[in-house]
Amino acid sequence: MNPSAPVDLLGRPMHDLRVSVTDRCNFRCVYCMPKELFGRDHAFLPRAEILDFEEIERVVRASVGLGVRKVRLTGGEPLVRRNLETLVRMLAAVEGVDDLTLTTNASLLAPRAQALADAGLDRVTVSLDALDDPTFQRMNDVGFPVTRVLDGIAAADEAGLGPIKVNAVVRRGLNEHAILDLAEHFRGTGTTVRFIEYMDVGHTNGWRLDDVVPAAQVVAAIDERWPLEPVDPDYRGEVAQRYRYRDGAGEIGVISSVTQPFCGDCTRARLSADGQLFTCLFATSGHDLRAVVRSGARDDDLADALRAIWTGRSDRYSELRTLETVEVPKVEMSFIGG
Ligand code: SAM
Repeated sequence: MNPSAPVDLLGRPMHDLRVSVTDRCNFRCVYCMPKELFGRDHAFLPRAEILDFEEIERVVRASVGLGVRKVRLTGGEPLVRRNLETLVRMLAAVEGVDDLTLTTNASLLAPRAQALADAGLDRVTVSLDALDDPTFQRMNDVGFPVTRVLDGIAAADEAGLGPIKVNAVVRRGLNEHAILDLAEHFRGTGTTVRFIEYMDVGHTNGWRLDDVVPAAQVVAAIDERWPLEPVDPDYRGEVAQRYRYRDGAGEIGVISSVTQPFCGDCTRARLSADGQLFTCLFATSGHDLRAVVRSGARDDDLADALRAIWTGRSDRYSELRTLETVEVPKVEMSFIGG
């Protein structure tokens, strides 16, 4: 580990940086950006408030100096940001970034996968909540078809952006049947599906604990059909618990941030599109790095600002989650980046 890498008040190093490049999205997933709240008159961030690529690169460079090795581009939908390939090229050139990835709904991925790979992107994670159009369209709420997401996944695979992960949020009453469909479809393909517990991020999705399908239930359902065995985590802070099919057809993962919180190993920081640093997905406010960057700060000053934020960090929301904390207004996932 980098000797100058700081740890926070709970001894956690900063290893991952998630960079939200836009708060806009072309989907209106009911659990993330419900149409009623993100309609035509929703005020997205004005362009001047969004970090430009040079500003993002400076923050990434500074965070790498403090120990970050993994950078994930997200949003909103990152591929709606123009010329994202240029940013990928800039970040791929930052020494110390060992893993440069993108989380996307894949709606715009097929024609751009090769260019992203050529620019230096290592991998993609694709969000896909069901394999049948009625369910998927009920979830994305813009009538987007499954086939085009699968085309995006195929193009990414061909461009070498694997191993690909597919993220599926499971919400009770909406897509529980998709658990076995997705597992079956991706078994033996080298693509790992990760089932995510529906979380109380933001405060617009009307989250209720009853809507959460516990990860243990997901594992049990798949195990009953295709027996599974647990796999050790690759590294401290790995978000998903991994399982492999006993018949050798690959792996699945579950992300159980509600039923089995993993704050103790959380090594992630999140940069919003307007340059605020959040040290918890469930934070109520961020730290304004854009002000630091735009004040003419030198690289050392930026690194000092980041270090001060990280070393002062003590959040562990998921471990403290109670019915009361669910009511506290939190920042939206589409803003902070998933
Ligand atoms: N637009 C991109 C995408 O669809 O992957 C990136 C941003 S999206 C906010 C990132 C991930 O967060 C997606 O996999 C999405 O399903 C997940 N997500 C959003 N709201 C969630 C919630 N309430 N609980 C669990 N996961 C959620």
